Amino acid sequence: MTAKRRPSRATSPRPDARRTLPDARRTLPSVDAVLRAAGELDVPRTRFVSAVREVLADARGNGAAATDARAVARDARARIAAKDTPSMRRVLNATGVVLQTNLGRAPLAPAAIDAMRDAAGAVSVEYDLVAGKRGERHGHTIGLLHELSGAEDAAVVNNNAAAVLLALAALAVRREVLVARGELVEIGGGFRIPDVLRRSGAKLVEVGTTNRTYVKDYASAIGERTAAILRVHASNFKVTGFVASPDDRSLATLARERGIAFIHDLGSGTFLDTSRFGLAREQTVSEAVAAGADVVTFSGDKLLGGPQSGIVVGRAARIAELRAHPLMRALRPDKVTLAALIATLELYRDGRAEAEIPVWRMIAAGVDSLDERARSIARRLTGGGVTAEVIATESTIGGGSLPEETQPSRAVALAATPASAVAARLRAARPAVVPRIVDGRVALDLRATLAEDDELLAITVTAALRTGG
Ligand SMILES: *Cc1c(COP(=O)(O)O)cnc(C)c1O
Repeated sequence: MTAKRRPSRATSPRPDARRTLPDARRTLPSVDAVLRAAGELDVPRTRFVSAVREVLADARGNGAAATDARAVARDARARIAAKDTPSMRRVLNATGVVLQTNLGRAPLAPAAIDAMRDAAGAVSVEYDLVAGKRGERHGHTIGLLHELSGAEDAAVVNNNAAAVLLALAALAVRREVLVARGELVEIGGGFRIPDVLRRSGAKLVEVGTTNRTYVKDYASAIGERTAAILRVHASNFKVTGFVASPDDRSLATLARERGIAFIHDLGSGTFLDTSRFGLAREQTVSEAVAAGADVVTFSGDKLLGGPQSGIVVGRAARIAELRAHPLMRALRPDKVTLAALIATLELYRDGRAEAEIPVWRMIAAGVDSLDERARSIARRLTGGGVTAEVIATESTIGGGSLPEETQPSRAVALAATPASAVAARLRAARPAVVPRIVDGRVALDLRATLAEDDELLAITVTAALRTGG
């Protein structure tokens, strides 16, 4: 390749280039010379040698100026370090969005993290330690979920999308499911109710109109082949104005009278009353159960504040059908997830959710405490040479919960510009810091962070913006 290109270079209008290029190449060090210059290696020799070869090939390819052995060794080390930087790593969430799906939604409570560590080894996930024989994977959560929701029975799967899929597959395959036109929604990440319905093997029957649906719309659509009514919570949007939809109790009554199932996809699913925190009131899981739904599904990692999981609660006969379905085996949660979920549910049972589950601690944080923390961080940053000031912001819950609801928050706005470069530096840090941009400035919103991480945040941001390059 190189030899073939030479004639064209000879005809280049810049005769200088022809002279300097081969000279620079001639001064590139040998691999052995680089190895000698590198000294002790902290990676296997073969790995280092191939990184050195890459650096030398690049230098040759772009006709780089003469490079000495030390510089090549340094570049090879940098190349290895870049490759070794994990793309999935710890993040300080300074976006002001409490449930950031891209950042793993709910951060777990310390009790849940401890439980995951304990469950990592051998654990009685499907073993009954009293009877000394095989046990039920779901058994561990049934008692807790019954206590917290009032439901007769429960099952846990990988996520709420799986819970909805399983409920439809188990209760409505090859039969019809009635859904209000206003509830044929996309949750995000390609989760569209009509698609999930189709994939489950059930047949969608739309009822009502986009803005108004009545019990009589459902009643007149019920036929021989109808298996269920599916109600889907409007998680990420709001419909206002000339709207109407029947309450849960009326749908439950209709379903019972006509011998079909009432499945309620609650989305987030909360055990606490969100209106206590200045937010719109979300229906709680127990309210949905009390209203008479046969099956209620919700996420483990939204407002519940636990691990990614899908929880199904409801009438014993219906839940038994779900558990017995072959899909259950494919959708079941692993032992570590179950352990974290159980520990999280125990915090609710013991009245410690608000004090110990990060999601609720973040939501419950008063703006005065956020202000105080922001001031202290801004002082530290400025003292470390990173000019910053406190600004007022509005934070959101996110993760398909409480659409359009905001909470007053505080952020530390950085003076450094340009914002895109500053944000990139913060994202490259370890832990990575993901900020928000407010009026063109990089800002660290404190709503979705915990006070115990403030010092780490200040240190990380100072180090990331102080270092050169
Ligand atoms: C979020 C959401 C889902 C999907 O839940 P995952 O746990 O993310 O799978 C399904 N339905 C509704 C209404 C939701 O809000």
